[in-house]
Amino acid sequence: MKQVDIIVTGEFVVKDAFSHPISDGAVAILGDEIEFVGQRSECLAHYRGQRYIERPKGLVIPGLINAHTHAPMTLFRGLADDLPLKTWLEEHIFPREARLTPDLIALGTELACAEMIRSGTTSFIDMYLFEDTICEVISRVGLRAWLGEGLFDFPSPAFPSGFEALEETRRLLDKWGDHPKITITVDPHTPYTCGHDLLRRAGEVADEMGALLVIHLSETEWEVAEIQRRYRRTPARYLDDLGLLGPRTIAVHVVHPTEDEIGLLSERGVKVVHCPESNQKLGSGVAPVAKMLDAGVRVLLGTDGAASNNDLNMFGEMGSAARLSKGIGCDPTALPATHAFAMATMWAGEALGISGLGTLSPGAPADLAVLDLDSPHLRPCYNPVSHLVYCATAGDVQDLICGGEIVMEDFELTTIDEEDLFMRVEKVASELT
Ligand SMILES: [Zn+2]
Repeated sequence: MKQVDIIVTGEFVVKDAFSHPISDGAVAILGDEIEFVGQRSECLAHYRGQRYIERPKGLVIPGLINAHTHAPMTLFRGLADDLPLKTWLEEHIFPREARLTPDLIALGTELACAEMIRSGTTSFIDMYLFEDTICEVISRVGLRAWLGEGLFDFPSPAFPSGFEALEETRRLLDKWGDHPKITITVDPHTPYTCGHDLLRRAGEVADEMGALLVIHLSETEWEVAEIQRRYRRTPARYLDDLGLLGPRTIAVHVVHPTEDEIGLLSERGVKVVHCPESNQKLGSGVAPVAKMLDAGVRVLLGTDGAASNNDLNMFGEMGSAARLSKGIGCDPTALPATHAFAMATMWAGEALGISGLGTLSPGAPADLAVLDLDSPHLRPCYNPVSHLVYCATAGDVQDLICGGEIVMEDFELTTIDEEDLFMRVEKVASELT
């Protein structure tokens, strides 16, 4: 019998989006990696656990990967809705962001982490301000994250210029480069809020660091027209001319690409993050996901910030993505559940370059969630992946493990004191309004 740290058992284990689920399955975890995935009987015959999480009605899945967040924006959740993007940003969000301090950033991040843990997310890609503070919170809470300081041509609440924020990116890399769950990225905000000098320099720094470059792209028709007006090119062509498109580029939204741009993104190996709920709520349009997938573009899934969604729940995002593709294509076969689940797990893991991330397989990071299937909306359960996309909710998540660390057990968070957190959030919320 081999000794392992944790053995998790369940009614079903979903190894990945495309494999047949294992009935009466088990996962054995040693350190921060998965040691075994298979039948419960086989697991218990060969492994002895230091701890056991036994869920006879549990559905064990790879931890979800939220490929686009602005974590601290949870503090602005529901503050201003149903407004045109420009009014929403300029009259409600920007003035409040100008008052952000590292303490508020830490608070918003902790709230975001609590929400993500409760909704099955183990990894996320974050672009915001004061990212060093966000890294501190993540390291305490125990999630896995890719984080980049937002770069703009104008002063941000954190830095007087984009070039100084870029220097911060290097400092972040020095400080957090060896952390097992934190990776630093280079994050120019958009092609229209960064000038070409800043964009080019950001691309060079990303290349020097071997880092991912994360940028919002073609979110609105206004942006496409503005880039055309300024540079006489489509946004993706413009970024390509600056040398910014490649396999380490993560382009967020891509709601309004031309056929030419879809071909270009595919050719360059750019990863696209689809944010269906944010795009709907801000009236930005619907990204042509099925078309991009057909063209060979790797598409991931993200919530965007909680001010424009208004939650960080990837179950909602998977369901929205799958339904929206069918609705706009008048095609019920568009974006099947397997693909929506792959976008939120294994395809994101591949894009992030960690072997096995987004799957439950030996040697993969020990990132998993267990859902409680003992609920009316989840019975009967013929096809667990269908349930994950079309009927599971955040409240079904019972346990969450990230890198072998248990961050929620039997609905109780282990690294966040929620009662204290909510009290601090309410106090700040009254000051923000
Ligand atoms: Zn965003």
